[in-house]
Amino acid sequence: MSRVLIVGAGLTGSICACLLRRELPNKVKIVVWDKSRGSGGRMSTSRSPNNSACTVDLGAQYISATPYYARIHSSFYEELLAQDILKPLVAPVENMMSKEEGIMNYVTPHGVSSIVKHYLKESGAEVLYDRHVTHIHRKDTGWEVCHKGGASQQFDIVVLTMPVPQILQLQGDVESWCELQWTDVFLDIEAKLQQIN
Ligand SMILES: Cc1cc2nc3c(=O)[nH]c(=O)nc-3n(C[C@H](O)[C@H](O)[C@H](O)COP(=O)(O)OP(=O)(O)OC[C@H]3O[C@@H](n4cnc5c(N)ncnc54)[C@H](O)[C@@H]3O)c2cc1C
Repeated sequence: MSRVLIVGAGLTGSICACLLRRELPNKVKIVVWDKSRGSGGRMSTSRSPNNSACTVDLGAQYISATPYYARIHSSFYEELLAQDILKPLVAPVENMMSKEEGIMNYVTPHGVSSIVKHYLKESGAEVLYDRHVTHIHRKDTGWEVCHKGGASQQFDIVVLTMPVPQILQLQGDVESWCELQWTDVFLDIEAKLQQIN
């Protein structure tokens, strides 16, 4: 079974893990590593140590869907609305600026990280925290990935979902891969996925 590492347990990493699982059920072992102590990234929710019902969203606080994205991502919105993870924002927000006509805003009754948690759960991935990736080396046809204070591990495919400045801080062979044409990188991923299929 092919081993896929997704670095980052934010929205991009979690949705990537979920879509990969739905596309290739039982064909890949999906592992997610994040340097933090929990999931969410810039969509994280903190709880009061004295009262777990008291939460605060530290990054994104609501989700805006323009008419275009509401249409092309309708299945995502329908799924999250059906599970009460999203609810339409109905309360008026003073001085709220809308950049476009027809934008729908949604809130997350269980905190914004509930979106990320939903996709991680759906993915069935092994999710490991306190895994700060530092080096990535090309090894045979796959990748050797090192994290702070731990032994390196090998994966067939590595998906980096952290912001670009953090990707560029990685040591090893990532920089030389970034210099490749993006089409070459996509062709490589496509070829690997075809092998898995
Ligand atoms: C203050 C604020 C308000 C916002 N408001 C809104 C809003 O109202 N509506 C909206 O839609 N969006 C909003 N956004 C944007 C939204 O939060 C982001 O677009 C989205 O969360 C990005 O998700 P991501 O998974 O791409 O990246 P991230 O959430 O940044 O996830 C990347 C993950 O990678 C991990 N990581 C980084 N480097 C490493 C490493 N070397 N090894 C292992 N793990 C690593 C990080 O810990 C992080 O968890 C807001 C953002 C901020 C900061």
